[in-house]
Amino acid sequence: MSEDNKKSQLDDIQLQLIDRISKNDTNGFKQLLGQLKGGVNFVDDSGMSILAHASFKGNKEAVQLLLDMGADINLNQHGADYTPLHFAALSGNTHVCRQLLDAGINANCINSVNRTASQMAAFVGNHACVETINNYVSLASLEYSTQLHGQQQEPHIPPAQLKGFHSFVTEINLHPVRITLNAQSLGLLKLLPNLRQALKLMCEKEMQKTHDINELMAFKYHYLAWIVGEVLRCEEQFKAQHKDKADDNKGGDFIEVFVKRVLKENKLGQLDYVEFTVRECVREFPYRECTVFRQLVTQLGGKDAAPALVILRNAINGLRGFVDETSYCSTCGQEKPDKKCSKCKAVQYCDRECQRLHWFMHKKSCPRLLAAVLAGNKNEVKAPIDAAELREELAKLSA
Ligand SMILES: [Zn+2]
Ligand SMILES: [Zn+2]
Repeated sequence: MSEDNKKSQLDDIQLQLIDRISKNDTNGFKQLLGQLKGGVNFVDDSGMSILAHASFKGNKEAVQLLLDMGADINLNQHGADYTPLHFAALSGNTHVCRQLLDAGINANCINSVNRTASQMAAFVGNHACVETINNYVSLASLEYSTQLHGQQQEPHIPPAQLKGFHSFVTEINLHPVRITLNAQSLGLLKLLPNLRQALKLMCEKEMQKTHDINELMAFKYHYLAWIVGEVLRCEEQFKAQHKDKADDNKGGDFIEVFVKRVLKENKLGQLDYVEFTVRECVREFPYRECTVFRQLVTQLGGKDAAPALVILRNAINGLRGFVDETSYCSTCGQEKPDKKCSKCKAVQYCDRECQRLHWFMHKKSCPRLLAAVLAGNKNEVKAPIDAAELREELAKLSA
């Protein structure tokens, strides 16, 4: 088919749709969609589908509309063999990557230069996309845990909780606090013993595969099961201590105890409990021949080793290829949190809840951090920038 031929096949509405999505004009795109005849599965003169265009723009609203209208995730006549996931990975939009993965796109497809979508994302430095793709497992692959096997009286995960379980398993933040808060918000706290069991089984099943074993996911399941086990241990201790108080507590209080256990810093500001737990978890990984196991053991044993949680995160999510200047929530390790301690402005949090949970530690260091910030400002006072001067600088910049 010649280029002209393909071009001539597009009608006016199709051409306008591509134009609007290229300009990220979502409203215009939505208005035009209704006039489209013959469905959303067409390609432009370069062989790119409209879904590929929306993915490349990282336009989650348009992507969802197109998927709902039956867009074919495998429609691709682009000479370079980019799938919509390759385009989404280039856009850097993790939400769109996730939408396409949920729609069943094959993340292992390679383009004409033999790169998967995840490798393309790494190539352009979109690390969050790399993590999203590499941590993904399909909802269907988790259905095993919602079914009865052998002597089981009940499935490990009730079918109604499958979605929550899926979110829990595909979370990329491996901080024990985030794992715990997720279990809570996803309604999995009542299932902790079963949740641990299901994760252990998934690790076993992954390692028993005859081909395409994903060691990293197997290790991740082992780690998640381990943290759930630690939360459980905390719950049991908590119950034993509060026996006399009957069951008047709301049941979530042990979560607070666990979070504080995790966040308790030693005199050097290190998280002893996390360090110990992660190391113990690695030591107890049953599959000693694995590359990931050996890699972790070597790195944890190295001189001046990084904190164990950082080593674990890099092993599972991949090393970030450049100096990591991203900010993290001081409580749960979530990336790019948008709240700051209003006093010292030196620590960041996702939300009020994260700040509240960290206050028992932060209240000790807040005044010191504030003093450091003020001392830093004092140096700047020596060379004050006067407001008029600043305005002048800014005017120059925008000119
Ligand atoms: Zn947080
Ligand atoms: Zn503070």
